[in-house]
Amino acid sequence: MKIFTVGPVEMYADTLEIGGKQLPYFRTREFSEINYGIEKNILDLMNAPEGAKTAMLTASGTGAMEAAVLNGLNERDNVLVINGGGFGQRFVDLCNIYGIKHTALNLEYDEPLTAGKLYYYAGKGYTALLVNIDETTTGQLYDAELLGKFCRENGMTYIVDAISSFLADPFDMSSNGADLVIVSSQKALALAPGLSVIAVSPRMREKISSGTVKSMYFNLNDYFDNMGHGQTPFTPAVGTVLQLASRLEKIMEQGGASRVIGQTKEKAEFFRDCCKKYGLEILNVPMSNALTTLMFDNCAKSVFETLKNDYELMLTPNGGNMADMLLRIGHIGNIKKEDLELVAKTISEVLE
Ligand SMILES: *Cc1c(COP(=O)(O)O)cnc(C)c1O
Repeated sequence: MKIFTVGPVEMYADTLEIGGKQLPYFRTREFSEINYGIEKNILDLMNAPEGAKTAMLTASGTGAMEAAVLNGLNERDNVLVINGGGFGQRFVDLCNIYGIKHTALNLEYDEPLTAGKLYYYAGKGYTALLVNIDETTTGQLYDAELLGKFCRENGMTYIVDAISSFLADPFDMSSNGADLVIVSSQKALALAPGLSVIAVSPRMREKISSGTVKSMYFNLNDYFDNMGHGQTPFTPAVGTVLQLASRLEKIMEQGGASRVIGQTKEKAEFFRDCCKKYGLEILNVPMSNALTTLMFDNCAKSVFETLKNDYELMLTPNGGNMADMLLRIGHIGNIKKEDLELVAKTISEVLE
């Protein structure tokens, strides 16, 4: 089975090899060095500003989203949430759970977020923005620079879930001014799931340290304090940490963020050309390089099942009312152009 999902994704041979080894004990100086290396490389890959810090959580991406809401926002905030799909809705749900005042900027699945739609909310007293920069449900990539400018002009805290976009699309924290950025292990990093990293600007670090958090596991201050000596408050997913350290080093050696992003972009463009060649319809929104969303006429479910059962090709299905309309094909992880062409060709054959 070849997987074209957006997480987990096809992993690289060296990552798999690390996954098969005995884990070391982690409260050691040697392991602290590994954690320092991860922090340095993650911050470098998003071009974080001077003084930025990271918290490494053993949690899936949603855990990190929850930690971001719990720590980065409080009862004085009035939050604008960009809600263009399942992950935007998750931020809305988190605000509801924690009683944080918010407004959702709702988008239809095929509706691009334009400057006009965003600026309708300017000067209305919002203090923070929550956004999934690639709304993975549809693949729509929002404009991180535009959103950053909007936040700057309106004095808003800028919180970004970059989980599926990190290392797939350009993201420059120094230039877009993001205050908090979330990444996770199972997307373009192509590791086992379960590890997430939250990067914060000095300003956000300040806001978090001045607040009180009613949570033990998700108190980010503990994570920042422990990182002072290269450690985490609790036992991390040690094996995934080792995979992460190795993968980041490899990425840095091979030319850093621009090189990996360039390769993913090339695959995305190649696949989209294949779709044109085989007559497949691509959802018409600005799309992340991480995936391509295809449109079907009430047969997405059966195309998904046929490719999985008869061709050993695992695409990413959609849920809810999109289930029979959309299918997503991931371009991240260890997949090749010929794999992607095979997917496009097979879908077109199955449709016939
Ligand atoms: C994958 C993903 C997450 C994380 O989901 P988990 O299932 O909790 O790992 C969060 N946000 C976005 C945009 C994602 O693509």
